[in-house]
Amino acid sequence: MDYIYHNPLPLRHPSQLCSVFVHTFVLGGKGLRVTTAMSVQVVSAKMAEADLQASSSKELKAVPPGMPKSEEKKVLKNEPKAAAATSPVGPSTEVIAKGDPSHSPTPSPDLPKMQASAMRRTDGRQNGESLLNSDGTVAEAPKTKKIQFADQKQEFNKRPTKIGRRSLSRSISQSSTDSYSSAASYTDSSDDETSPRDKQQKNSKGSADFCIKNIKQADFGRREIEIAEQEMPALTALRKRAQGEKPLAGAKVVGCTHITAQTAVLMETLSALGAQCRWAACNIYSTQNEVAAALAEAGISVFAWKGESEDDFWWCIDRCVNLEGWQPNMILDDGGDLTHWIYKKYPNMFKKIKGIVEESVTGVHRLYQLSKAGKLCVPAMNVNDSVTKQKFDNLYCCRESILDGLKRTTDVMFGGKQVLVCGYGEVGKGCTAALKAMGAVVYVTEIDPICALQACMDGFRLVKLNEVIRQVDIVITCTGNKNVVVREYLDRMKSGCIVCNMGHSNTEIDVASLRTPELTWERVRSQVDHVIWPDGKRIVLLAEGRLLNLSCSTVPTFVLSITATTQALALIELFNAPEGRYKQDVYLLPKKMDEYVASLHLPAFDAHLTELSDEQAKYLGLNKNGPFKPNYYRY
Ligand code: NAD
Repeated sequence: MDYIYHNPLPLRHPSQLCSVFVHTFVLGGKGLRVTTAMSVQVVSAKMAEADLQASSSKELKAVPPGMPKSEEKKVLKNEPKAAAATSPVGPSTEVIAKGDPSHSPTPSPDLPKMQASAMRRTDGRQNGESLLNSDGTVAEAPKTKKIQFADQKQEFNKRPTKIGRRSLSRSISQSSTDSYSSAASYTDSSDDETSPRDKQQKNSKGSADFCIKNIKQADFGRREIEIAEQEMPALTALRKRAQGEKPLAGAKVVGCTHITAQTAVLMETLSALGAQCRWAACNIYSTQNEVAAALAEAGISVFAWKGESEDDFWWCIDRCVNLEGWQPNMILDDGGDLTHWIYKKYPNMFKKIKGIVEESVTGVHRLYQLSKAGKLCVPAMNVNDSVTKQKFDNLYCCRESILDGLKRTTDVMFGGKQVLVCGYGEVGKGCTAALKAMGAVVYVTEIDPICALQACMDGFRLVKLNEVIRQVDIVITCTGNKNVVVREYLDRMKSGCIVCNMGHSNTEIDVASLRTPELTWERVRSQVDHVIWPDGKRIVLLAEGRLLNLSCSTVPTFVLSITATTQALALIELFNAPEGRYKQDVYLLPKKMDEYVASLHLPAFDAHLTELSDEQAKYLGLNKNGPFKPNYYRY
């Protein structure tokens, strides 16, 4: 196995000259080879552009010109908090990730090989929110998964009764909403009320190092995993390329993600790359029991089932990490609960941990808080802000799943319906595109003139909410903001209007204002409530204002493949990085890796990427092999 790294120099403000980042990641002589070679030269011609960006970016504005480099770094490290306060999506990290190249004009000989090889793979298709308090302690933050934190739980022996579990099921109602999975499991756990913790189960090889609902569902789960594999070509490609090469040999990965067919493909890929994996669920509802069974049968130590109690949730995480003779050296987290648990209960484990890979807005925010408090003791990769995650999850995922979520809950026909979409960011763009394609008449509200202009140019009517609220059939919020649809508007909607939210949290629709004595709530289906006014008017409220697609539908596997590939590469990167390459801070994956993730997915479309000629590359000042865009490029 052949790994070569050249340490990155820290990224400076784009308006300053010259930072060089060279990062070479070679996976196996015959196998996967990814090379990142960055030579950042933001010369004066670029300065205007950079300044423009700075003026549009609160983060960059925070760095006064001429500030000493050390000071600048301090400010930049603090950015996520500012970003989180100002951005509905979460911390904007592009400019802060140290080692993240901002431009890339130097040749890198390896990517074409890699891309060409990716392109050749036409068989690819076969293929609880907690935040740190000011004192550094972790406190619950506005994630809707109401799970108590580790330090609030001393022991695991008080297990809820059947009734207790059921009532808990009602109160803990939503997943970590900034991570995506096929949240709906096809298995029903209600047929067997025995807690998995009370069952003695073994797989066919005699191993009992797992705790799941029912090992007998393994065959069914295996078929689910195989279906997911069809839509996860990049992970399949990684596995094939790493045959013989084990870039994760020696890695002991403890993971906490949704446990679904898609994440199973990720886990099995990590295993194929040499890692030992132990896994818990990041959400008490999203586990597909049959998939957990298939994983346990395949020898992955899984501790998860659909409908865990809060106590079960932490118990499962603990079983993953607290094992005699086994200590994790890598963390793959989605939401930060696992990281939090290790910090609270087993801080010494961090001596052996080489890095954390975090997927969610929430988890990333926690990491930045830890970093800011000087308490982050290992390097961490922020996968959430990779271009391939954000652009694809937010836009394409929502473009596909908005219709699914609405159909499953209401059976509504879209053709000719008047739909109001609040917010024309990535999510809004995805939702409006899908609805327009179905023949709906779509109105958009926006606060930002740029996004508003985009909406106009895309052919949507830009309105104020009160102008159309009486006439629309469906209202969808996707602003990441709060109180976008308040009681005043709900009062004025016509009878039968469907109201739902696609944004991160359940703050966009003022649902609490509907819980008043004069209004009657009628649960008509799972996740569907009719709220009835005294005059008989009713609105159809979906998922009680929580994220529609994650609450009521599944999300496309292909999108998850992109994120999962990014996670796998981030793990490989952190695990193999030589001592000192990454400090105790939060990093973005280099853009080159983003491009690589994308290139691995292109064969699924039989797509043919154009290569720059030498002359063209020289003309554009680009490395023929990428990165093809400066770091500030917005796609
Ligand atoms: P974004 O910042 O790109 O877009 C949000 C838009 O809403 C912005 O253009 C902003 O100007 C606008 N806005 C803010 N307040 C408004 C108001 N009062 N009225 C009208 N418009 C307003 O963010 P995004 O990527 O589109 O994400 C939006 C939300 O969706 C976030 O909360 C994000 O976490 C969440 N999200 C959901 C999914 C999903 O699968 N449902 C996927 C990704 C992100």
